[in-house]
Amino acid sequence: MLYKRSSQLFAEAEKVIPGGVNSPVRAFKAVGGTPIFVQRAKGAYLYDEDGNRLIDYINSWGPMILGHAFEPVVEAVIEKAKLGTSFGMPTELETQIAALAVSMVPNIDKIRFVNSGTEACMSAVRLARGFTKKDKIIKFAGCYHGHSDSFLIQAGSGAITFGSPNSPGVTEGTAKDTLLATYNDLDNVRALIDANKNEIAAIIVEPVAGNMGCIPPNKGFLEGLRQLCTDNGILLIFDEVMTGFRLARGGVQELLGVDADIVCFGKVIGGGLPVGAFAARAEIMNYLAPLGPVYQAGTLSGNPLAMAAGLAMLQTLDNDAAIFQRLADKTAYLHEGIEKVLKANNVVFTINRIGSMISVHFDAAPVVDLKSAGNGDNETFKKFFHGLLKEGIYIAPSAYETWFITDALSYEDLDFTIQAIDKVSKNFLEQKNFRLSPEVFFYFCISFLGFILSLLLSCILCDLLFSCLAFIASHFSYCSADSMFFILAFIAICSSSILLFMAKRSSLVGFSVFSFRAFIIA
Ligand code: PLP
Repeated sequence: MLYKRSSQLFAEAEKVIPGGVNSPVRAFKAVGGTPIFVQRAKGAYLYDEDGNRLIDYINSWGPMILGHAFEPVVEAVIEKAKLGTSFGMPTELETQIAALAVSMVPNIDKIRFVNSGTEACMSAVRLARGFTKKDKIIKFAGCYHGHSDSFLIQAGSGAITFGSPNSPGVTEGTAKDTLLATYNDLDNVRALIDANKNEIAAIIVEPVAGNMGCIPPNKGFLEGLRQLCTDNGILLIFDEVMTGFRLARGGVQELLGVDADIVCFGKVIGGGLPVGAFAARAEIMNYLAPLGPVYQAGTLSGNPLAMAAGLAMLQTLDNDAAIFQRLADKTAYLHEGIEKVLKANNVVFTINRIGSMISVHFDAAPVVDLKSAGNGDNETFKKFFHGLLKEGIYIAPSAYETWFITDALSYEDLDFTIQAIDKVSKNFLEQKNFRLSPEVFFYFCISFLGFILSLLLSCILCDLLFSCLAFIASHFSYCSADSMFFILAFIAICSSSILLFMAKRSSLVGFSVFSFRAFIIA
């Protein structure tokens, strides 16, 4: 595939936009190369400025759960745009989408709309501090809650991709109020709470982490957080910017049956337009201005275009009872397919999946937190990313991102993707990326033993052979016994080199099996 025009456009962009992009991960810094410039998208496909078609597994980092340019969303936006794009005054539409969201998500009575996930999380924390009259928050290393100051401490996703999880510009004062815990480690959270008695306003967590790859919570982790919060007067904030209206109608609260005090939304709730929201029980939400003392505002908040897109999206999800199961089934199909081909090609990997979120990590150990997510082989990821791009498949240009499955993806698209992964991972093997499975280890040990025994045996045989050759040479006197022995040895070395070369190409397992058989024959 050619990316000539994309490269030219990127060069132009770099002159007037820092790094040529308006959000860092788009810049391809983690994988090398230049970003692809998109011209348009429809359903499961992106069409770039060079005329390439790509199957999209990012989907605007989550929002396009029904595919790109989904008709009801597009029509709703066009209709509203004709009536004016922003008023800075209330509209009926805001109440309609608010009422629908409240009816879909457990434990929330009221919701406020903002313009991004960052704003939603920032406002939720301010509300929690105002409500509890405490300052500190606990966040988890590798969880990303947007780019507001108090969250840029061991943030996930783009921040780790660029090696700056703790951003310069965040003051020490802000940083000291953010306590850092390890995802899936309740003891660690308990210790932080004990060391900061009556000072913690909130624990904010991605209930299914999506910014260090996809990391589902361990059994009991969210339940444990809930209990710790209840016991210590701390508000539990679920950042469902990624998972809300994606993993289930009511998000992770519904899927895993754990109640949060405040929930943050973004991505799907805006149908692809800039929308975020935060929601809670009335007693908490009434702390917000103009009812309460916690200030929060926005000129374009509740903008009619964004609300129209969001409403069309939520209505479609609400009316399609089977959608979340359908998405989970497609994701499971993809998971099985990828697992099969990576195993067959002896690639070291771990796949994490829940609902329509999935990530492939190039490490054999389970990926449960930021540390284990960081163990993945980034060089392999780069080859994987560029290999798939060549095959017309677009995954996130960072090993720390989740793939988002959309309803627009057909099973043919998934099969095509699995075949492409098969092709790409076969190439890995030639780059010596192999899996040391117990099977391979067994064959390796046996063949090593075989090698030693064959060596001993060949010493004895050589002695015998040499005597025979001396006998033959003395009868026919064409050549000496020495030269006949060397000719035979030369032929043996050449043929075994060819066999070894073929075995190495076909895989380490193949080589080991071959050596094992050779030993048996010997
Ligand atoms: N929270 C989570 C879990 C996210 O994944 C993101 C963005 O990826 C955000 C918050 C920030 O949202 P936004 O980029 O809309 O500001």
